[in-house]
Amino acid sequence: DIRLEMVKKNFGATEVIKGIDLAIDPGEFVVLVGPSGCGKSTLLNLIAGLETITEGNIYIGGKRVNDTPPRDRNIAMVFQSYALYPTKTVRNNITFGMVSRGIPKADQDAAVAEISTLLQIERLLSRKPGQLSGGQRQRVAMGRALVRKPDVFLFDEPLSNLDAKLRIEMRTEIKKLHQRLGKTIVYVTHDQIEAMTLASRIAVMDNGHIRQFADPKTIYEDPVDLFVAGFMGSPP
Ligand code: ATP
Ligand code: MG
Repeated sequence: DIRLEMVKKNFGATEVIKGIDLAIDPGEFVVLVGPSGCGKSTLLNLIAGLETITEGNIYIGGKRVNDTPPRDRNIAMVFQSYALYPTKTVRNNITFGMVSRGIPKADQDAAVAEISTLLQIERLLSRKPGQLSGGQRQRVAMGRALVRKPDVFLFDEPLSNLDAKLRIEMRTEIKKLHQRLGKTIVYVTHDQIEAMTLASRIAVMDNGHIRQFADPKTIYEDPVDLFVAGFMGSPP
């Protein structure tokens, strides 16, 4: 599980995360939504350990991780801009982290075989990112996160660069992947339909706060205020 306790984050004098309490159960699929600039990416970065928190506590699996470096948090993050190494093959993009951790070649190969089958990228392993479509690149980025076998996945608008058709396909893939692996996922999106279809619970953020944290049906049918209603397009 992931637990945030009165978490605050300042950038200089600006308070960007304003005291967030959040408890995410193991295996949950939590979708974070909210207007641009409200703090969604910052919140993911705090959970991942890519930014240090100003105040409060973060617990992962019961362990306080405020001072734990990202690589020891058992988390993998997939960014909006995939960030693949352009000169490395798909295979080497996927195994990059394993190489640096000194994992034996045979284990790397076994992991690549398993994950490339799962993501249906077996035939792309010797290509470079420039020779892939957007959706294929997205799969490789997910592959790289998956080989680490983390307990928690953080996704920051992973589908926002894809066309409408591919987004729907990938959305279905991600949902299947979650059902298959049962890992905890925290997923940021601007797409209300994506939020409604993927989430076990949706957290609606505004200006550094979480306004409501509930299952999609409740958010839609019983929004706590006009902001949530407006944001999720609930009927009046
Ligand atoms: P978007 O939907 O546009 O991605 P977001 O909800 O992810 O927005 P954040 O990226 O978390 O928003 O940013 C929240 C606020 O913090 C913004 O006002 C942003 O300008 C500010 N901010 C983010 N990172 C930094 C930084 N490194 N230094 C200073 N301010 C920052
Ligand atoms: Mg963002």
